[in-house]
Amino acid sequence: MSTLLIKNCYAVLPEKEKEEKCSILVEDGKIKELYTHVQEADKVIDGENLVAVPGFVDIHVHLRDPGQTQKEDIITGCKAAAAGGVTSLLAMPNTLPTTDNPETVEYVLNKAKGADAKVYVAASITKGLESHEATDLEALAKAGAVGLTDDGRPVENTAILAEAMKKAPELNMTVVAHCEDLFLAKGGKINEGEVSKALGVKGIPAAAEDCGTAREIALAAAYDVPVHICHVSTATSVALIRDAKNRGVKVTGETAPHYVTFTEKELLSRDADFRMNPPLRTEKDRLAVIEGLKDGTLDAIATDHAPHTPEEKSDFEKAPNGSIGMETSFSASYTALVKTGEITLCELVKKMSTNPAKILGIEGGEIKVGASADIALINLDKKWTVDPEKLHGKSKNTPFKGRELYGKVEYTILDGKIVFGGI
Ligand SMILES: [Zn+2]
Ligand SMILES: [Zn+2]
Repeated sequence: MSTLLIKNCYAVLPEKEKEEKCSILVEDGKIKELYTHVQEADKVIDGENLVAVPGFVDIHVHLRDPGQTQKEDIITGCKAAAAGGVTSLLAMPNTLPTTDNPETVEYVLNKAKGADAKVYVAASITKGLESHEATDLEALAKAGAVGLTDDGRPVENTAILAEAMKKAPELNMTVVAHCEDLFLAKGGKINEGEVSKALGVKGIPAAAEDCGTAREIALAAAYDVPVHICHVSTATSVALIRDAKNRGVKVTGETAPHYVTFTEKELLSRDADFRMNPPLRTEKDRLAVIEGLKDGTLDAIATDHAPHTPEEKSDFEKAPNGSIGMETSFSASYTALVKTGEITLCELVKKMSTNPAKILGIEGGEIKVGASADIALINLDKKWTVDPEKLHGKSKNTPFKGRELYGKVEYTILDGKIVFGGI
């Protein structure tokens, strides 16, 4: 039997909508007591200046493994997760080969055993993400996949997407949709608007994302099945999701820390670390996304952690889309949303932990007796400056580099074991 004691911390208890002073006793990987009087354990952490939150559940992560391990691999990706307080993550299927077959699902799950985070797998809806041929959803579910998506690109064939959305609930899988009309987006590099004009770069209109969001919602409404909308970045997509929710459509939505922090103006620097898909939008969009988080239209915050090498990111226009995010996810969100008074700490924890766990139907998202001890301990008052060289993943492409953020993850505990901090 091994024990861990976190003494005198403030625990965020999302299900009770509050924070409480407590001492958490962990035994054999599970939370044994929340208000313990026990004073000794195999390992004791002084929680005096720390807030305990349920480990974050990041449902949008590219681990690049198999096939692109020069960018990231399952082990280093999980180290990055641990450094950001993320204890569970959903790995996207745009790997090489594509995660469109049971063997690749099993490869990811096997390699993740003993990693510093729990890895859940999203398999693809079409073979090779090519939108022509459907994957074998039953076989993928049997192999252990819990998510379905062609992320990186949308499923162009709406009939195949509809079939996947109809079958997913029976297989306990969640469809997480990258919404984009490829014809409208074709050749675009950044948001279509003032900045794309100023830079003479082809833009991606907000409508490319919004047409996709509208299509996914139309399917969810028509068949009365759930769909989760990934990385919402536009005011119109927020409005579409809000309206659908009001009509009882089973839609949930997520955004990412970069969409509540930055706008397209960052692109004037011609720094490819600010290029992602969907692209950074306008101030109007940024404010609408924050409003969506505040009123519950957007349920979750996920990172779309997308590692690329410095060489790939060195050319502004040729660079692939995406930025890393797991190590800055809490701090960036806390700085942009809680420090500014937009939402409370408890609401943020729900969006980063409780809600994504529910959306995916996995364990996690709560600090309660009997639950796995997946906990992040955070010093909310600590300011830190993001230094890409000090991050724990393989790639350095963070748009938060050089930014001063509030709230530092000091420890991450996974199944009762310290996987980050406190050495
Ligand atoms: Zn995507
Ligand atoms: Zn993605």
